[in-house]
Amino acid sequence: MTTFTEGHQYINGTHRIGSGGSFSRVNPATGLTDGDIDFASLADVEDAVAAAAAAFPAWSRLTPGERSDHLLNFARALVAHADELAELETLQTGKTVRMSHEFDVPGTIDNVNFFAGAARNLQGLAAGDYAGNSTSMIRREAIGVVGSIAPWNYPLQMAAWKVLPAIAAGNTIVLKPSELTPGTTLRFAQIATEAGIPDGVFNVVVGAGRDVGEALVKHPLVKMTSFTGSTAVGRRIMEMASETGKRVHLELGGKAPLVVFKDADVEAAAHSAVAGSTVNAGQDCTAATRAYVHSSLFETFTARVAELMGSMVVGDPTVEDSDMGSLISFAHRDKVSSMVQRAVASGARTLTGGFAPDLPGAFYRPTLIVDAAQDSEIVQDEVFGPVLVALAFETEDEGLALANDSQFGLAASAWTKDVNLAMRAAAEIQAGCVWINEHIPMASEMPHGGYKSSGIGKDMSAYSFEEYTNIKHVLVSHDTTAHKEWQDTVFKQR
Ligand code: NAD
Repeated sequence: MTTFTEGHQYINGTHRIGSGGSFSRVNPATGLTDGDIDFASLADVEDAVAAAAAAFPAWSRLTPGERSDHLLNFARALVAHADELAELETLQTGKTVRMSHEFDVPGTIDNVNFFAGAARNLQGLAAGDYAGNSTSMIRREAIGVVGSIAPWNYPLQMAAWKVLPAIAAGNTIVLKPSELTPGTTLRFAQIATEAGIPDGVFNVVVGAGRDVGEALVKHPLVKMTSFTGSTAVGRRIMEMASETGKRVHLELGGKAPLVVFKDADVEAAAHSAVAGSTVNAGQDCTAATRAYVHSSLFETFTARVAELMGSMVVGDPTVEDSDMGSLISFAHRDKVSSMVQRAVASGARTLTGGFAPDLPGAFYRPTLIVDAAQDSEIVQDEVFGPVLVALAFETEDEGLALANDSQFGLAASAWTKDVNLAMRAAAEIQAGCVWINEHIPMASEMPHGGYKSSGIGKDMSAYSFEEYTNIKHVLVSHDTTAHKEWQDTVFKQR
């Protein structure tokens, strides 16, 4: 993380050392301090917002085709930096290089390419005559300066999910990545400048949520807040935005169920349960966290999941053989570990894992828990670690009800070979994404966003433009008379 000796703020196309103090970062996979990160002061936030506001008129007036060209150049430049970005992502998060190379970086580049195309296809209603003697049309307009706040789990992809729909639609942005993981976001912004995106369109401020994040949300020139992170902070952001009636887009926590019906391919469900609960060391908002399994398959499923989890290689994320790297920090690893310990203390059992291996970093073994109560903390609260809880059910209705018995509704999967049951599950499960016989895959063309406490609005896909644009009704009168007929309702023509 010593890559940014010229400063961790990126304002108006230039790095700067923030004047809001600094923070000593620890590499979570080694436990070693790997450099200081300077924090933005309120004056730095002010400058970043001013740069975005100054860049807005010219950027928003480009044609969709011109903005698309910029984004295509950006995507090409990212391809040239793919290896460097993947290595930096692993260094700052502790995730495996395999994951960074094969998932985080290609996913980010695909997102940039998708929005380069989508920028040219921002749609509105065609003109029509609705109100009599007039033609109505829709203008879809950029909002202005967007303030975005991102989490640490997929720093580069989350930056892309926040930045791309915003700037493709003609907005400019100030993005605050997590203070734990600013590196790839800063390189992302730098590469955008190198690819020709004008200064001020994409700015980055780094600092603590309470100071820099809140200053960004409250700033009067910031017209909307787009946030990805925990449900608790999302609620705080909504509260702050309510003071001015500012628009918010919230991508929050998840507790995805994986429902295995009695006719399911249990081997396939077990494989997906393992991959889906340990992806990114379980620090994934759509990770499989609650497996509800028909009682006839429960023993087979849990035994196989425990066996597969037990075979996973946990260790140095920089070597190709590792299946799972470290968690984001020692504090977070301790939080995961204490949630598992509390579950065990209240009667649950671990079939595998449930402990930190004897390694210098913030590692935790993939963990399968059984015998937990549906209303217990381990089933209801987000652990955000490689921990899956399995519970048995008897009837289809019971399986679906248990899946929906959560404050969260981000994603879910249902496992069955019965097409009718698959369709019923897709309709009944309250979540923004329901996978059938799969868990985790996403596509830039498809929306991502939660029901219930998992958020408001959508990332990715053309649906994300609904968050980042204003819709304006323009009515053009055809009527040349001075006193229009409808005005008689208000005052009679004399
Ligand atoms: P977090 O809520 O602690 O922090 C997220 C961001 O908010 C960070 O940049 C942080 O500095 C900032 N922040 C903290 N307090 C703030 C405040 N008062 N005002 C403004 N900003 C503030 O979340 P995290 O621990 O970084 O990430 C994990 C969480 O993110 C999990 O709950 C996970 O489910 C969620 N997440 C959701 C999605 C999704 O798409 N729904 C994707 C990834 C992560």
